[in-house]
Amino acid sequence: MAYRSALEARVAKKTTKAIVDYAMLEDGDRVMVGLSGGKDSWALLQALDVLRQRAPITFSLIAVNVDSGYKEYKHELLASTCKARGWEFLSEHTNIGETIDDILDDGATPCSLCARLRRGVLYRIATECGATKIALGHHADDFIETLLLNLFFAGSLKAMPPKLVSDDGAHVVIRPLVYVGEDEARAYAKECELPIIGCCCPACGDLGLQRQRTKRMLMDLEQEHPGVKQSMLKALSNVAPRHLLDTRLNPPGDLRRHAGLKSHATPEEAAPEVAQDSGVAQDFSPANTRLPLTLVRS
Ligand code: SF4
Repeated sequence: MAYRSALEARVAKKTTKAIVDYAMLEDGDRVMVGLSGGKDSWALLQALDVLRQRAPITFSLIAVNVDSGYKEYKHELLASTCKARGWEFLSEHTNIGETIDDILDDGATPCSLCARLRRGVLYRIATECGATKIALGHHADDFIETLLLNLFFAGSLKAMPPKLVSDDGAHVVIRPLVYVGEDEARAYAKECELPIIGCCCPACGDLGLQRQRTKRMLMDLEQEHPGVKQSMLKALSNVAPRHLLDTRLNPPGDLRRHAGLKSHATPEEAAPEVAQDSGVAQDFSPANTRLPLTLVRS
């Protein structure tokens, strides 16, 4: 089966790489795709359906929509589109929107509570419909935005996992679009003529939200320095734990022991990644090979 376009081939290639890199799928999997009707979840469903027909393993798909209960939400459009394309579909009607209004403090951001509530519903439906994997439509931009949000506002250096096992071990969440950019997901959903619908939530598109602010900042940066986002994505799989301040990664006692053991070693032997990364102490001539560790800067 040929790809319909160069864009589809690119999206399929990136999705396949993610599936392989993180061992996301196994033979016989029943994959439940969280379908909100936004461009990302449509792109994911379409990409997985294309891969399903070409993959050397067998897996099935079921699209599941968690309807938050907003009156204008066009869930029937999701049902009719899935039916027309032969995709198994299930919609769960909830009052998540109302619940959020009731329990959230004035001015607080609803998105993380909303995501937690929706995740709970998805877990329950996954059990009910026998899904072995839950696929979510987070793309590369979501990963780097989350990294920055945690860095700027939560004092934590983390993005989100491409593959996650739930705390009770019962569910496996996968994010096969981790290498696909938001622009590609948008263009792909449009090319496939999938009906993109809004979630109808009052917070949706609120430019005051920290995520929207971070998104704009990244957009500006990318315009000024093309490739910045790609570099950030690459950084997430190229971590240098010893260059961070977390004592859980670098117990001070271990560092002292390491420094003591290596005090007579060359800078490269003592701290190879420092020597390589810093550009300092690259001269390994006899005069330089007895540098104390403290002189090797990063
Ligand atoms: S914008 Fe609305 S629907 Fe989307 S995550 Fe936030 S609260 Fe939930």
